[in-house]
Amino acid sequence: THDIHVIGGGLAGSEAAWQLGRRGFSVRLSEMRGGGDMTPAHQGTGLAELVCSNSFRSDDSEKNAVGLLHHEMRALDSLVMRAGEVARVPAGSAMAVDRDVFSAEVERELAALSNVHVVRERIDRLPASGPTIIATGPLTAAPLAESVAEATGQDSLAFFDAIAPIVHRDSIDMDVCWMAARWDKGGKDYINCPMTREQYEAFVQGLLDGEKTEFREWEASTPYFEGCMPIEVMASRGIETLRFGPMKPVGLDNPHWATAEHPNGRWPYAVVQLRQDNKLGTLWNMVGFQTKLKHAEQVRLFRTIPGLENAEFARLGGLHRNTFINSPMVLDRELRLRRSSHVRFAGQITGCEGYVESAAVGLMAGMMAATELAGETWQAPPRTTALGALLAHITGDAEAETYQPMNVNFGLFPPLPEVKKKARKEAYTERAKADLDRWIGDRAVELA
Ligand code: FAD
Repeated sequence: THDIHVIGGGLAGSEAAWQLGRRGFSVRLSEMRGGGDMTPAHQGTGLAELVCSNSFRSDDSEKNAVGLLHHEMRALDSLVMRAGEVARVPAGSAMAVDRDVFSAEVERELAALSNVHVVRERIDRLPASGPTIIATGPLTAAPLAESVAEATGQDSLAFFDAIAPIVHRDSIDMDVCWMAARWDKGGKDYINCPMTREQYEAFVQGLLDGEKTEFREWEASTPYFEGCMPIEVMASRGIETLRFGPMKPVGLDNPHWATAEHPNGRWPYAVVQLRQDNKLGTLWNMVGFQTKLKHAEQVRLFRTIPGLENAEFARLGGLHRNTFINSPMVLDRELRLRRSSHVRFAGQITGCEGYVESAAVGLMAGMMAATELAGETWQAPPRTTALGALLAHITGDAEAETYQPMNVNFGLFPPLPEVKKKARKEAYTERAKADLDRWIGDRAVELA
């Protein structure tokens, strides 16, 4: 018997088990690798294996959101940060690790906790009762994914992300763009970027010529829906396809192009539309622009769109195999399934993106579960911290309708419009650190 069952011994599951174990709770940590199963991306059987790059990205906690997340996780005695420090290799201002040393260190620290039992087994159904954390990641084994789909509703589980680029609102040039909905229906909800014929044709050519990333072999064999078709594939179907699809200009009077004859403005030849992506209104996604263009190519090409010349991207587009739930819809603020509150989710399956973010959500899930097991009330980290901002986004502030995986970034933080742009990053991190310290101070007993 155990106090809690953690399923999946990746970054999130290992971190959650650690947070629970070091607070004295007994944990069964089930990991299928090493028990006869494998994912298409993992190579070995070690806990917390890094499947691709060996980088935790920027370690700069003054100007970078993921660096700030490192700082906050260290303050909460994160296992992933602790093992990362032991395994660290030189990488300038980034934090990179020797992946074998890292995984071995995670295993060693967990093995040193006598109340954490690592069991090499595949779990095929959500446990019917008992506190559980599901941390099976972007490549959750199929039977369990089916069981999750049953519990959340089929439409709430995705097997592919189809990510359109997301732009910081304050980097969009509103002297060129304008807010409107087609035919003026239902408010002025979209930001519209106007294109002339020459601009449109050059843009389509750019999509066709741009360098793309290939699907991995195992991804190519998983079918994806028409609704997720990459924009460059649409463009390849004919010069007019986009103008009749996501770049349709009809019903969109551009007031910047108003004349005496057309006082409300005129329709552009084509438009790029952006839709609000978070409740704060700081992030906007490019509608229909999911793409497999290489990142540098996306930045170059999308900055040729009128009004986006200086666009700062909170994330770039992509399309990958990725099992994740519609967290804003199906989870409560404590990462519990609304319909069966004994089940918590953690890691990339919640729709966060990245090693560090997955571990961070695992850390919070572990702390939440520990608080619940102790019969106490959970206080979320302040929204102004990286942990709090990420958690708030996942558990309700993101738009459920367009929910797609998200890295931590300053667009998720309550804005600081009064601070000059140049000083804003430091202002975010200073505020976050002070608020985190206060939160930790208030909660000293539970954190011990
Ligand atoms: P994982 O680390 O994948 O852990 C989940 C664990 O659950 C695995 O060990 C798996 O074996 C186990 N499991 C699955 N199903 C079951 C089951 N039914 N029963 C028991 N165990 C089960 N992020 C980055 O920051 N940088 C990158 O370079 C990067 N590259 C990526 C490349 C690929 C191909 C993929 C798929 C993702 C990549 N990511 C990357 C994204 C992501 O951050 C990582 O996938 C990260 O490992 C997610 O952490 P996790 O704990 O949620 O899942």
